[in-house]
Amino acid sequence: MSDTDTDPDTDAGATGESLRTPIVAVLGHVDHGKTTLLDKIRGSAVSEGEAGAITQHIGATAVPLETVSNMAGSLVDPTDFDLPGLLFIDTPGHHSFSTLRARGGALADIAVLVVDVNDGFQPQTVEAIDILRRTGTPFIVAANKVDTTPGWNAQEGSPIKQTYEAQSDRARSMLDENLYEVIGNLSDEGFSADLYWRVQNFQKNIGVVPLSAITGEGIPDLLAVLMGLSQRYMKEEMAVDISGPGKGTVLEVKEEKGFGATLDVVLYDGTVREGDTVVVGGTNEPIVTEVRALLQPRPNAEIRTEKRFDKVDSVAAAAGVKIAAPDLDEAMAGAPVRVVRGRERDAVVEEVRKELAQIEVDTEEEGVVVKADTLGSLEAMANALKEAEIPILRAEVGDIAPRDVAVASTAGEDVHRVILGFNVDVLDRAERELDETGVKLFRDDVIYQLVEEYDEYVEEQKRAQQ
Ligand code: GDP
Repeated sequence: MSDTDTDPDTDAGATGESLRTPIVAVLGHVDHGKTTLLDKIRGSAVSEGEAGAITQHIGATAVPLETVSNMAGSLVDPTDFDLPGLLFIDTPGHHSFSTLRARGGALADIAVLVVDVNDGFQPQTVEAIDILRRTGTPFIVAANKVDTTPGWNAQEGSPIKQTYEAQSDRARSMLDENLYEVIGNLSDEGFSADLYWRVQNFQKNIGVVPLSAITGEGIPDLLAVLMGLSQRYMKEEMAVDISGPGKGTVLEVKEEKGFGATLDVVLYDGTVREGDTVVVGGTNEPIVTEVRALLQPRPNAEIRTEKRFDKVDSVAAAAGVKIAAPDLDEAMAGAPVRVVRGRERDAVVEEVRKELAQIEVDTEEEGVVVKADTLGSLEAMANALKEAEIPILRAEVGDIAPRDVAVASTAGEDVHRVILGFNVDVLDRAERELDETGVKLFRDDVIYQLVEEYDEYVEEQKRAQQ
Protein backbone atom coordinates (compact mmCIF):
# COMPACT_ATOMS: atom_id res chain seq x y z
CA MET A 1 0.00 0.00 0.00
CA SER A 2 1.55 3.27 -1.08
CA ASP A 3 0.37 6.71 -2.04
CA THR A 4 0.89 5.95 -5.71
CA ASP A 5 -1.94 3.38 -5.58
CA THR A 6 -4.48 6.09 -4.94
CA ASP A 7 -6.39 8.11 -7.49
CA PRO A 8 -4.56 11.38 -8.20
CA ASP A 9 -7.83 13.29 -8.52
CA THR A 10 -9.06 12.41 -5.09
CA ASP A 11 -5.96 12.05 -2.98
CA ALA A 12 -3.57 14.90 -2.25
CA GLY A 13 -0.94 12.35 -1.24
CA ALA A 14 -0.55 11.31 -4.84
CA THR A 15 0.70 14.76 -5.81
CA GLY A 16 3.86 14.11 -3.86
CA GLU A 17 2.97 15.38 -0.42
CA SER A 18 5.68 14.77 2.09
CA LEU A 19 7.10 16.25 5.26
CA ARG A 20 9.82 18.80 4.87
CA THR A 21 12.51 19.79 7.34
CA PRO A 22 11.59 22.55 9.80
CA ILE A 23 13.65 25.72 9.26
CA VAL A 24 15.36 26.98 12.42
CA ALA A 25 16.84 30.46 12.95
CA VAL A 26 19.11 31.53 15.79
CA LEU A 27 18.85 35.05 17.16
CA GLY A 28 19.77 37.14 20.19
CA HIS A 29 21.96 39.99 21.42
CA VAL A 30 25.47 40.44 20.04
CA ASP A 31 28.11 38.29 21.81
CA HIS A 32 25.54 36.11 23.55
CA GLY A 33 26.85 33.11 21.60
CA LYS A 34 24.76 32.60 18.44
CA THR A 35 27.71 31.85 16.16
CA THR A 36 29.40 29.60 18.70
CA LEU A 37 26.18 27.64 19.16
CA LEU A 38 25.72 27.07 15.43
CA ASP A 39 29.38 26.12 15.06
CA LYS A 40 29.11 23.68 17.94
CA ILE A 41 26.02 22.01 16.51
CA ARG A 42 27.72 21.66 13.11
CA GLY A 43 31.01 20.53 14.67
CA SER A 44 29.41 17.96 16.97
CA ALA A 45 27.38 16.59 14.10
CA VAL A 46 30.50 16.19 11.98
CA SER A 47 32.45 14.57 14.82
CA GLU A 48 29.73 11.94 14.95
CA GLY A 49 32.03 10.78 12.17
CA GLU A 50 29.53 9.34 9.74
CA ALA A 51 29.21 10.29 6.12
CA GLY A 52 26.12 12.42 5.72
CA ALA A 53 26.11 13.49 9.38
CA ILE A 54 25.20 16.95 8.15
CA THR A 55 24.75 18.51 4.72
CA GLN A 56 26.04 21.96 4.02
CA HIS A 57 23.58 23.94 1.93
CA ILE A 58 23.85 27.47 0.63
CA GLY A 59 23.12 29.60 3.71
CA ALA A 60 21.96 26.68 5.83
CA THR A 61 23.00 23.42 7.45
CA ALA A 62 20.79 20.33 7.36
CA VAL A 63 21.04 18.02 10.34
CA PRO A 64 19.21 14.77 9.50
CA LEU A 65 17.07 13.03 12.13
CA GLU A 66 19.58 10.25 12.55
CA THR A 67 22.34 12.72 13.41
CA VAL A 68 20.04 14.66 15.74
CA SER A 69 19.29 11.41 17.49
CA ASN A 70 22.98 10.45 17.71
CA MET A 71 23.78 13.82 19.21
CA ALA A 72 20.82 13.89 21.58
CA GLY A 73 21.33 10.32 22.80
CA SER A 74 18.44 8.97 24.83
CA LEU A 75 16.54 12.26 24.48
CA VAL A 76 15.58 11.61 20.85
CA ASP A 77 14.29 8.20 19.79
CA PRO A 78 14.20 8.39 15.97
CA THR A 79 11.22 6.02 15.76
CA ASP A 80 9.09 8.70 17.44
CA PHE A 81 9.57 11.11 14.57
CA ASP A 82 8.69 11.32 10.92
CA LEU A 83 10.09 14.79 10.24
CA PRO A 84 13.40 14.46 8.37
CA GLY A 85 15.56 16.55 10.73
CA LEU A 86 16.33 20.24 11.21
CA LEU A 87 17.57 22.90 8.79
CA PHE A 88 19.54 25.62 10.58
CA ILE A 89 19.94 28.97 8.85
CA ASP A 90 23.65 29.73 9.04
CA THR A 91 23.50 33.50 9.39
CA PRO A 92 22.52 34.21 12.97
CA GLY A 93 20.98 37.42 14.21
CA HIS A 94 17.62 39.05 14.02
CA HIS A 95 18.64 41.19 11.10
CA SER A 96 18.84 38.15 8.87
CA PHE A 97 15.80 36.70 10.60
CA SER A 98 13.60 39.66 9.77
CA THR A 99 15.00 39.72 6.25
CA LEU A 100 13.93 36.14 5.78
CA ARG A 101 10.26 36.50 5.23
CA ALA A 102 7.91 34.11 3.56
CA ARG A 103 4.19 34.15 3.04
CA GLY A 104 3.99 37.46 4.87
CA GLY A 105 5.50 35.96 8.04
CA ALA A 106 8.90 34.65 8.97
CA LEU A 107 10.74 32.18 6.79
CA ALA A 108 11.96 30.29 9.84
CA ASP A 109 9.46 27.90 11.38
CA ILE A 110 11.08 28.03 14.81
CA ALA A 111 13.61 30.33 16.45
CA VAL A 112 16.23 29.78 19.11
CA LEU A 113 16.65 32.96 21.16
CA VAL A 114 20.13 32.93 22.67
CA VAL A 115 20.54 34.76 25.99
CA ASP A 116 23.84 34.92 27.90
CA VAL A 117 22.80 33.83 31.43
CA ASN A 118 25.21 36.30 33.02
CA ASP A 119 24.19 39.22 30.88
CA GLY A 120 20.44 38.59 30.78
CA PHE A 121 18.10 40.52 28.52
CA GLN A 122 19.74 43.22 26.41
CA PRO A 123 18.30 45.65 23.82
CA GLN A 124 18.69 43.24 20.91
CA THR A 125 17.09 40.46 22.95
CA VAL A 126 14.00 42.61 23.33
CA GLU A 127 14.16 43.63 19.67
CA ALA A 128 14.31 39.96 18.68
CA ILE A 129 11.32 39.15 20.89
CA ASP A 130 9.35 41.96 19.27
CA ILE A 131 10.05 40.48 15.85
CA LEU A 132 9.17 36.95 17.00
CA ARG A 133 5.93 38.20 18.49
CA ARG A 134 5.03 40.17 15.37
CA THR A 135 5.71 37.25 13.04
CA GLY A 136 4.07 34.75 15.41
CA THR A 137 7.16 32.55 15.34
CA PRO A 138 7.36 29.88 18.05
CA PHE A 139 10.66 30.03 19.91
CA ILE A 140 12.68 28.49 22.68
CA VAL A 141 15.34 30.17 24.77
CA ALA A 142 18.92 28.93 24.91
CA ALA A 143 20.21 30.21 28.27
CA ASN A 144 23.83 30.13 27.17
CA LYS A 145 27.21 30.12 28.91
CA VAL A 146 26.19 28.04 31.95
CA ASP A 147 29.83 26.88 32.08
CA THR A 148 30.84 30.34 33.34
CA THR A 149 28.89 29.79 36.57
CA PRO A 150 31.42 29.94 39.45
CA GLY A 151 32.31 26.43 40.58
CA TRP A 152 30.72 24.84 37.49
CA ASN A 153 31.75 21.26 36.91
CA ALA A 154 31.49 20.80 33.15
CA GLN A 155 30.52 17.54 31.47
CA GLU A 156 31.24 17.87 27.76
CA GLY A 157 28.23 17.28 25.56
CA SER A 158 25.94 15.92 28.29
CA PRO A 159 22.23 16.48 28.57
CA ILE A 160 21.86 19.51 30.84
CA LYS A 161 19.42 18.07 33.33
CA GLN A 162 21.99 15.47 34.29
CA THR A 163 24.83 18.02 34.53
CA TYR A 164 22.63 20.46 36.40
CA GLU A 165 21.79 17.92 39.07
CA ALA A 166 25.44 16.90 39.43
CA GLN A 167 26.60 20.43 40.38
CA SER A 168 27.38 21.62 43.87
CA ASP A 169 24.44 23.29 45.63
CA ARG A 170 26.27 26.57 45.44
CA ALA A 171 26.90 26.41 41.67
CA ARG A 172 23.36 25.29 41.01
CA SER A 173 21.83 28.05 43.07
CA MET A 174 23.98 30.65 41.35
CA LEU A 175 22.86 29.39 37.97
CA ASP A 176 19.24 29.27 39.19
CA GLU A 177 19.40 32.91 40.11
CA ASN A 178 20.43 33.81 36.56
CA LEU A 179 17.94 31.44 34.96
CA TYR A 180 15.05 32.84 36.98
CA GLU A 181 16.07 36.33 36.02
CA VAL A 182 15.74 35.31 32.34
CA ILE A 183 12.38 33.65 33.06
CA GLY A 184 11.31 36.88 34.81
CA ASN A 185 12.40 38.96 31.82
CA LEU A 186 10.34 36.74 29.54
CA SER A 187 7.38 37.20 31.80
CA ASP A 188 7.82 41.00 31.65
CA GLU A 189 7.55 40.61 27.88
CA GLY A 190 4.28 38.74 28.33
CA PHE A 191 5.55 35.18 27.90
CA SER A 192 5.05 32.48 30.45
CA ALA A 193 8.30 30.54 30.52
CA ASP A 194 9.98 27.83 32.54
CA LEU A 195 12.92 25.45 32.46
CA TYR A 196 12.10 23.23 29.53
CA TRP A 197 11.73 20.01 31.54
CA ARG A 198 8.89 21.62 33.49
CA VAL A 199 7.04 22.75 30.38
CA GLN A 200 4.04 20.63 29.43
CA ASN A 201 2.75 22.58 26.48
CA PHE A 202 5.37 24.28 24.32
CA GLN A 203 2.69 26.18 22.44
CA LYS A 204 1.60 27.97 25.58
CA ASN A 205 4.88 28.23 27.44
CA ILE A 206 8.39 29.11 26.39
CA GLY A 207 10.91 26.39 27.20
CA VAL A 208 14.23 27.62 28.57
CA VAL A 209 17.17 25.31 27.86
CA PRO A 210 20.27 26.03 29.96
CA LEU A 211 23.31 25.19 27.87
CA SER A 212 26.88 25.96 26.95
CA ALA A 213 27.84 26.48 23.34
CA ILE A 214 31.44 25.87 24.39
CA THR A 215 31.17 22.61 26.36
CA GLY A 216 28.11 21.39 24.45
CA GLU A 217 26.23 20.67 27.67
CA GLY A 218 22.53 21.13 26.98
CA ILE A 219 22.84 20.89 23.20
CA PRO A 220 21.24 17.40 23.26
CA ASP A 221 18.32 18.98 25.11
CA LEU A 222 18.08 21.89 22.68
CA LEU A 223 17.90 19.52 19.71
CA ALA A 224 15.37 17.30 21.46
CA VAL A 225 13.11 20.26 22.26
CA LEU A 226 13.36 21.58 18.69
CA MET A 227 12.54 18.17 17.25
CA GLY A 228 9.70 17.52 19.72
CA LEU A 229 8.15 20.92 19.23
CA SER A 230 8.15 20.61 15.44
CA GLN A 231 6.85 17.07 15.45
CA ARG A 232 4.09 17.84 17.91
CA TYR A 233 2.86 21.24 16.80
CA MET A 234 4.11 21.90 13.28
CA LYS A 235 3.68 18.68 11.39
CA GLU A 236 0.78 20.03 9.37
CA GLU A 237 2.77 23.05 8.24
CA MET A 238 5.63 20.75 7.24
CA ALA A 239 3.42 18.79 4.85
CA VAL A 240 4.27 20.21 1.44
CA ASP A 241 3.86 19.09 -2.14
CA ILE A 242 7.50 18.34 -2.68
CA SER A 243 7.17 17.88 -6.44
CA GLY A 244 5.21 21.11 -6.91
CA PRO A 245 6.67 24.39 -8.18
CA GLY A 246 9.26 25.72 -5.73
CA LYS A 247 8.74 28.65 -3.39
CA GLY A 248 11.54 30.36 -1.57
CA THR A 249 13.05 33.53 -0.19
CA VAL A 250 16.19 35.31 -1.37
CA LEU A 251 18.87 35.34 1.34
CA GLU A 252 21.39 37.31 -0.65
CA VAL A 253 22.12 38.54 -4.16
CA LYS A 254 25.77 37.78 -4.92
CA GLU A 255 28.14 38.26 -7.83
CA GLU A 256 29.79 34.94 -8.65
CA LYS A 257 32.67 34.59 -11.07
CA GLY A 258 31.43 33.04 -14.30
CA PHE A 259 27.78 33.39 -13.32
CA GLY A 260 27.17 37.12 -12.80
CA ALA A 261 24.53 38.02 -10.22
CA THR A 262 23.21 34.91 -8.47
CA LEU A 263 20.63 34.32 -5.75
CA ASP A 264 21.21 32.50 -2.49
CA VAL A 265 17.77 31.13 -1.78
CA VAL A 266 16.11 29.18 1.01
CA LEU A 267 13.41 26.99 -0.48
CA TYR A 268 10.48 26.27 1.86
CA ASP A 269 8.08 24.57 -0.53
CA GLY A 270 8.18 22.45 -3.69
CA THR A 271 11.08 21.85 -6.05
CA VAL A 272 13.19 24.02 -8.31
CA ARG A 273 14.79 22.46 -11.39
CA GLU A 274 17.36 23.59 -13.90
CA GLY A 275 15.55 25.25 -16.79
CA ASP A 276 12.55 26.32 -14.69
CA THR A 277 11.08 29.74 -15.28
CA VAL A 278 11.19 31.69 -12.03
CA VAL A 279 9.77 34.99 -10.83
CA VAL A 280 11.89 36.95 -8.35
CA GLY A 281 11.11 40.18 -6.49
CA GLY A 282 13.19 43.05 -7.87
CA THR A 283 13.82 46.63 -6.75
CA ASN A 284 11.27 47.90 -9.25
CA GLU A 285 9.34 45.07 -10.81
CA PRO A 286 9.23 41.30 -10.42
CA ILE A 287 11.94 39.72 -12.60
CA VAL A 288 11.05 36.77 -14.84
CA THR A 289 14.00 34.61 -15.79
CA GLU A 290 15.11 31.05 -16.42
CA VAL A 291 17.30 28.94 -14.10
CA ARG A 292 20.67 28.36 -15.78
CA ALA A 293 22.21 26.38 -12.96
CA LEU A 294 21.50 25.24 -9.43
CA LEU A 295 24.57 25.24 -7.23
CA GLN A 296 25.40 23.65 -3.89
CA PRO A 297 28.60 24.13 -1.91
CA ARG A 298 31.18 21.54 -2.84
CA PRO A 299 31.97 19.41 0.21
CA ASN A 300 35.45 20.15 1.60
CA ALA A 301 36.12 22.78 -1.06
CA GLU A 302 39.27 24.79 -0.48
CA ILE A 303 38.33 28.42 0.05
CA ARG A 304 40.67 29.54 -2.72
CA THR A 305 39.93 26.92 -5.33
CA GLU A 306 37.99 28.07 -8.33
CA LYS A 307 35.39 25.38 -8.13
CA ARG A 308 33.45 26.04 -4.97
CA PHE A 309 30.12 24.69 -6.18
CA ASP A 310 28.62 21.53 -7.57
CA LYS A 311 25.82 21.69 -10.11
CA VAL A 312 22.63 19.82 -9.28
CA ASP A 313 19.58 19.17 -11.47
CA SER A 314 16.96 19.95 -8.87
CA VAL A 315 16.49 20.85 -5.23
CA ALA A 316 13.50 20.07 -3.01
CA ALA A 317 12.31 21.93 0.10
CA ALA A 318 13.49 22.61 2.70
CA ALA A 319 16.92 23.54 1.35
CA GLY A 320 19.34 26.34 0.66
CA VAL A 321 20.55 26.67 -2.95
CA LYS A 322 22.30 29.13 -5.22
CA ILE A 323 20.37 29.98 -8.37
CA ALA A 324 22.29 31.22 -11.40
CA ALA A 325 20.09 32.93 -14.00
CA PRO A 326 20.22 35.94 -16.33
CA ASP A 327 18.94 39.39 -15.30
CA LEU A 328 19.28 39.06 -11.54
CA ASP A 329 21.09 42.37 -10.93
CA GLU A 330 17.98 44.07 -9.63
CA ALA A 331 16.86 41.14 -7.44
CA MET A 332 16.34 41.99 -3.77
CA ALA A 333 17.45 40.21 -0.65
CA GLY A 334 14.39 39.16 1.32
CA ALA A 335 12.21 38.99 -1.79
CA PRO A 336 10.15 35.97 -2.82
CA VAL A 337 11.21 33.49 -5.52
CA ARG A 338 8.54 31.41 -7.28
CA VAL A 339 8.84 28.68 -9.89
CA VAL A 340 6.28 29.08 -12.68
CA ARG A 341 6.18 25.45 -13.91
CA GLY A 342 2.61 24.36 -14.72
CA ARG A 343 1.13 27.69 -13.71
CA GLU A 344 0.20 30.93 -15.42
CA ARG A 345 3.24 33.12 -15.54
CA ASP A 346 1.22 36.31 -15.09
CA ALA A 347 -0.52 34.87 -12.05
CA VAL A 348 2.85 34.11 -10.45
CA VAL A 349 4.12 37.61 -11.24
CA GLU A 350 1.02 38.95 -9.52
CA GLU A 351 1.64 36.68 -6.51
CA VAL A 352 5.17 38.05 -6.16
CA ARG A 353 3.98 41.60 -6.56
CA LYS A 354 1.39 41.05 -3.84
CA GLU A 355 3.85 39.53 -1.43
CA LEU A 356 6.14 42.52 -1.91
CA ALA A 357 3.29 44.93 -1.37
CA GLN A 358 2.52 43.38 2.01
CA ILE A 359 5.42 45.36 3.35
CA GLU A 360 3.59 48.57 3.75
CA VAL A 361 5.07 51.55 5.44
CA ASP A 362 2.83 54.36 6.64
CA THR A 363 4.30 57.54 5.28
CA GLU A 364 3.45 61.10 6.30
CA GLU A 365 3.57 64.48 4.59
CA GLU A 366 6.59 65.32 6.68
CA GLY A 367 9.20 63.04 8.09
CA VAL A 368 12.55 61.40 7.59
CA VAL A 369 13.79 59.36 4.63
CA VAL A 370 14.57 55.72 5.44
CA LYS A 371 16.79 53.40 3.41
CA ALA A 372 17.48 49.77 4.29
CA ASP A 373 19.21 46.86 2.63
CA THR A 374 16.30 44.44 2.46
CA LEU A 375 12.53 44.43 2.61
CA GLY A 376 12.52 42.73 5.98
CA SER A 377 14.88 45.24 7.51
CA LEU A 378 12.96 48.13 5.99
CA GLU A 379 9.86 46.77 7.66
CA ALA A 380 11.66 46.34 10.97
CA MET A 381 12.97 49.93 10.71
CA ALA A 382 9.50 51.26 9.93
CA ASN A 383 8.07 49.46 12.96
CA ALA A 384 10.80 50.76 15.26
CA LEU A 385 10.25 54.32 14.03
CA LYS A 386 6.52 54.04 14.47
CA GLU A 387 7.02 52.90 18.04
CA ALA A 388 9.33 55.84 18.66
CA GLU A 389 6.74 58.15 17.01
CA ILE A 390 9.15 59.29 14.32
CA PRO A 391 7.29 60.09 11.10
CA ILE A 392 8.51 58.74 7.76
CA LEU A 393 8.36 60.69 4.52
CA ARG A 394 9.69 57.92 2.31
CA ALA A 395 11.04 54.41 2.89
CA GLU A 396 12.88 52.33 0.28
CA VAL A 397 15.27 49.45 -0.17
CA GLY A 398 18.72 50.28 -1.53
CA ASP A 399 21.87 52.35 -1.05
CA ILE A 400 21.59 56.07 -0.44
CA ALA A 401 21.31 57.80 -3.83
CA PRO A 402 21.27 61.48 -4.84
CA ARG A 403 17.51 61.25 -5.27
CA ASP A 404 17.10 60.38 -1.59
CA VAL A 405 19.09 63.46 -0.61
CA ALA A 406 16.96 65.58 -2.92
CA VAL A 407 13.78 64.25 -1.31
CA ALA A 408 15.13 64.78 2.22
CA SER A 409 16.29 68.31 1.40
CA THR A 410 12.73 69.39 0.70
CA ALA A 411 11.43 67.94 3.95
CA GLY A 412 10.96 71.30 5.71
CA GLU A 413 11.94 71.37 9.35
CA ASP A 414 15.56 70.56 10.16
CA VAL A 415 14.65 67.48 12.20
CA HIS A 416 13.08 66.03 9.09
CA ARG A 417 15.89 66.89 6.70
CA VAL A 418 17.40 63.58 7.66
CA ILE A 419 18.16 60.19 6.09
CA LEU A 420 18.31 57.10 8.27
CA GLY A 421 20.27 54.32 6.58
CA PHE A 422 20.18 50.78 7.90
CA ASN A 423 22.94 48.51 6.58
CA VAL A 424 23.35 50.53 3.39
CA ASP A 425 26.16 52.39 1.63
CA VAL A 426 26.19 55.93 0.32
CA LEU A 427 26.74 56.38 -3.40
CA ASP A 428 29.55 58.84 -4.24
CA ARG A 429 27.30 61.38 -5.86
CA ALA A 430 24.94 61.29 -2.91
CA GLU A 431 27.88 62.09 -0.63
CA ARG A 432 28.46 65.34 -2.53
CA GLU A 433 24.78 66.23 -2.40
CA LEU A 434 24.76 65.68 1.35
CA ASP A 435 27.54 68.25 1.71
CA GLU A 436 25.79 70.73 -0.52
CA THR A 437 22.29 70.45 0.93
CA GLY A 438 23.20 70.01 4.59
CA VAL A 439 20.89 66.96 4.87
CA LYS A 440 21.89 64.94 7.96
CA LEU A 441 22.71 61.30 7.50
CA PHE A 442 22.64 58.65 10.22
CA ARG A 443 23.81 55.15 9.40
CA ASP A 444 24.06 52.06 11.55
CA ASP A 445 23.57 48.32 11.43
CA VAL A 446 21.68 48.15 14.72
CA ILE A 447 18.15 49.50 14.60
CA TYR A 448 17.80 50.72 18.15
CA GLN A 449 21.10 52.58 17.92
CA LEU A 450 19.95 54.32 14.79
CA VAL A 451 16.76 55.39 16.52
CA GLU A 452 18.74 56.54 19.56
CA GLU A 453 21.17 58.56 17.44
CA TYR A 454 18.29 60.27 15.74
CA ASP A 455 16.48 60.99 19.02
CA GLU A 456 19.64 62.55 20.42
CA TYR A 457 19.94 64.73 17.35
CA VAL A 458 16.35 65.91 17.75
CA GLU A 459 17.03 66.76 21.41
CA GLU A 460 20.12 68.73 20.41
CA GLN A 461 18.18 70.67 17.80
CA LYS A 462 15.51 71.50 20.35
CA ARG A 463 18.07 72.74 22.84
CA ALA A 464 19.76 74.83 20.17
CA GLN A 465 16.50 76.57 19.37
CA GLN A 466 15.75 77.55 22.96
P1 GDP B 1 27.31 36.11 18.74
O1 GDP B 1 27.69 37.54 18.54
O2 GDP B 1 25.99 35.99 19.44
O3 GDP B 1 27.39 35.27 17.50
O4 GDP B 1 28.35 35.53 19.81
P2 GDP B 1 29.61 34.57 19.59
O5 GDP B 1 29.19 33.21 19.25
O6 GDP B 1 30.55 35.26 18.68
O7 GDP B 1 30.20 34.52 21.07
C1 GDP B 1 30.69 35.68 21.73
C2 GDP B 1 31.76 35.27 22.71
O8 GDP B 1 31.20 34.47 23.75
C3 GDP B 1 32.89 34.46 22.09
O9 GDP B 1 34.09 34.86 22.69
C4 GDP B 1 32.55 33.02 22.48
O10 GDP B 1 33.69 32.21 22.60
C5 GDP B 1 31.90 33.23 23.84
N1 GDP B 1 30.93 32.17 24.13
C6 GDP B 1 29.88 31.79 23.36
N2 GDP B 1 29.20 30.79 23.95
C7 GDP B 1 29.84 30.51 25.11
C8 GDP B 1 29.63 29.57 26.18
O11 GDP B 1 28.69 28.77 26.18
N3 GDP B 1 30.51 29.60 27.21
C9 GDP B 1 31.54 30.47 27.27
N4 GDP B 1 32.35 30.43 28.31
N5 GDP B 1 31.78 31.37 26.29
C10 GDP B 1 30.94 31.40 25.23
